Amino acid sequence: MSDAIYIRRLKYGDTMNIIFFGPPGAGKGTQADLVSKKLEIPTISTGAIIRNALKNRTKMGLEAKKYTESGALVPDDIVIGIIEERLSDSDCKNGFILDGFPRTVPQAEALERMGIRIDVVLSIELSDEVIVERMSGRRVCPSCAASYHIKYNPPTDGKKCDKCGAELTIRKDDDPAVVKSRLDVYHNETEPLEDYYRKKGILKTVQSQDKVEDTTALTFAALGIEVAV
Ligand code: AMP
Repeated sequence: MSDAIYIRRLKYGDTMNIIFFGPPGAGKGTQADLVSKKLEIPTISTGAIIRNALKNRTKMGLEAKKYTESGALVPDDIVIGIIEERLSDSDCKNGFILDGFPRTVPQAEALERMGIRIDVVLSIELSDEVIVERMSGRRVCPSCAASYHIKYNPPTDGKKCDKCGAELTIRKDDDPAVVKSRLDVYHNETEPLEDYYRKKGILKTVQSQDKVEDTTALTFAALGIEVAV
């Protein structure tokens, strides 16, 4: 039997449960947002949920802080709880995109135990060297969470968010020493998941390109999304 996976050609109204997979800084979040808009399904980013909890100083946010700021993974039971709660929301019933979850094999197994069907895992690949360069130029909006890059995707006026006008900031975990440790964590704890999903026959890979729109073209093609609807 062929290893090729068949992915339905997607158009508006189709249901699809997608995982975006790959190292930090490969552009998962950016691509996930574009696919999310195109298919009108939510992107669920555990990283964004954790940062929001931290901003609001919730118990979970404060507990997660000690891990995120050093580049370590937040314990499985915390992130699994976050995902279980979020996936039960009604906006997920027509499909969803997971960005940054699962990050360990036990997290992937928990997803299966919840009875969640995953149609495709899209892995966006990029070398460590380029990741370090990209992450050092990343800027984020503390207010609406929009993401920019000083070289590849700069905000119009250089410092403020195009969407809401807030002053952009650098994420603490984009500090070069933390990036190095996040990459180590990725290779040791998350990368084994690639094989986990390859064995299930649902893994697709694309190479991250310098230009966001080039990666988007590859991403849409890999997911079988029709560009003209
Ligand atoms: P991200 O924005 O996806 O890079 O996530 C930022 C940080 O949040 C990570 O470095 C982890 O500390 C934490 N985090 C996000 N998702 C997970 C996850 N699935 N498992 C464990 N920790 C996570």
